[in-house]
Amino acid sequence: MINKCGNIQTFLGCDADYNSADLVIFGAPYDGTTTNKPGARFGPAAMRADSWGLESYSPYCERDLEDFAIYDAGDLDLPMGDSNPVLERIEAAITDIAKDGKIPLMLGGEHLVTLGAIRALHRVHPDLHIIHFDAHADLRDEYIGNKLSHSTVIRHCWDLLGDNKIFQFGIRSGERAEFDWAKNHTVLRKFDLAGLDDILGNIIGRPIYFTLDLDVLDSGIFWGTGTPEAGGISFAELLAGIGKFAGQNLVGADIVELAPNLDISGQSTATACKILRELILTITKER
Ligand code: MN
Ligand code: MN
Repeated sequence: MINKCGNIQTFLGCDADYNSADLVIFGAPYDGTTTNKPGARFGPAAMRADSWGLESYSPYCERDLEDFAIYDAGDLDLPMGDSNPVLERIEAAITDIAKDGKIPLMLGGEHLVTLGAIRALHRVHPDLHIIHFDAHADLRDEYIGNKLSHSTVIRHCWDLLGDNKIFQFGIRSGERAEFDWAKNHTVLRKFDLAGLDDILGNIIGRPIYFTLDLDVLDSGIFWGTGTPEAGGISFAELLAGIGKFAGQNLVGADIVELAPNLDISGQSTATACKILRELILTITKER
């Protein structure tokens, strides 16, 4: 159940009431299938707390969080352990928000949480497309016998969406079999965001879900994540990529895999907060 009654600790500038909001943020604090270093469950709360160190104004896009109606519902109550009830609760929350005509923006949590969102939004938008930024392909069918894992999530999104609906960028880690499989089923661009313009140009008006695994960033600037990978994109490249979603038919988005406990300097959390601000300001509508 999504909380529609207000939330004491919100992300900076996201304190509109539910009914007036166009964009609804909520946390999915789950990291039950994390295979390397856990801690993504602490991501949403850390982002809310640290967001107050940010300015609400963005000099990048010349917009201010204060000028938009954004509601932060807080975190879902999620059980640890079995992933099935976790995904069911996420699916229910996203369905509820979408039915109310609002755009859901989910804060992970590990990447598996995205599957709950796609299950919900694919029902509302059968022509759903996914833009996926990540260091990892996440295309395994199963991982150590587990079908539901942060390393299988995009594969199981494909089960719902089918071929040529998923566009992956920044990918620099995975099994050979994942890269081979991708050749026939997704569009996979290695290492950076090259080609994003063309792809977005080809799907203008189509419903798009944007899933941002923060480990797409270079681990040298973002090491507060469970599976860091060297050789990633810069903050400026990511910001430019997010900016390209302006004017697109984004029907939902998420930011996943911040594990704030793994970077006690707070740098990774501060970076995640700034990216979230820019993402909000890119997709939200003028009041
Ligand atoms: Mn991922
Ligand atoms: Mn990843």
